[in-house]
Amino acid sequence: MRGKLVVGNWKMNGGLASNAPLLERLVNDWQPAAGRSIAVCVPFPYLGQAQAALSGSPIAWGAQDVSAHDAGAYTGEVAATMLIDFGCRFVIVGHSERRQWHREGDADVAAKAGRALAAGVTPIVCVGETLAEREAGVTEEVVVRQLGAVVDALGADMPRIVLAYEPVWAIGTGRTASPGQAQEVHAVLRGALDNARAQDVPILYGGSVKAANAPALFAMADVDGGLVGGASLDAVEFLAIARA
Ligand code: PEP
Repeated sequence: MRGKLVVGNWKMNGGLASNAPLLERLVNDWQPAAGRSIAVCVPFPYLGQAQAALSGSPIAWGAQDVSAHDAGAYTGEVAATMLIDFGCRFVIVGHSERRQWHREGDADVAAKAGRALAAGVTPIVCVGETLAEREAGVTEEVVVRQLGAVVDALGADMPRIVLAYEPVWAIGTGRTASPGQAQEVHAVLRGALDNARAQDVPILYGGSVKAANAPALFAMADVDGGLVGGASLDAVEFLAIARA
């Protein structure tokens, strides 16, 4: 059976001084329960801080991006093997902010997921439609295409990923997909995963998740937890979501 996973995406927020009490609070206040896990994905410079604060706790950590390349002359890039040096269990790939601002396409996302897996880091692969795509009625087509590129690249390794459905129109906007809208897309993704023999891959929902809306979202049959942006910067709110 799939457990529930809630992952915080700090995005480009934080600082050594402000991260310390946030991490400390997570360590002190998170009470692990069977089938429930949490993790935080922090900016690269704070991976060492996260590792020091969270090692030995039940909280995992990870990064928000990884290079599609192995090593070498790629200035500014961070290799998956470097994430392993910092104890990362997860890395987010294909976040809509990377797709939008850094022009990452489906093939880039698939290559990054492959690099992560080869190094032993679990990729959290994000898919999701824009508002224009939803209004044009092509949501299903878009997310299945985005996932398909990863299925083609990973093949038999597909069961080792985590998938996140993040409708772009719900990210950082305060506008959340209704539980029914989320379930509808998750069911489509679940079908695609079943076809790829990856039926146990957790599918997280992301997009303005808060403590107030998490219980209804997480109660949906195919919603296995959340990828949480803004609300993960507040330990009390984040842990309330994780308990939902
Ligand atoms: C995210 O960054 O993945 C996200 C879902 O952001 P927010 O929760 O702020 O909408």
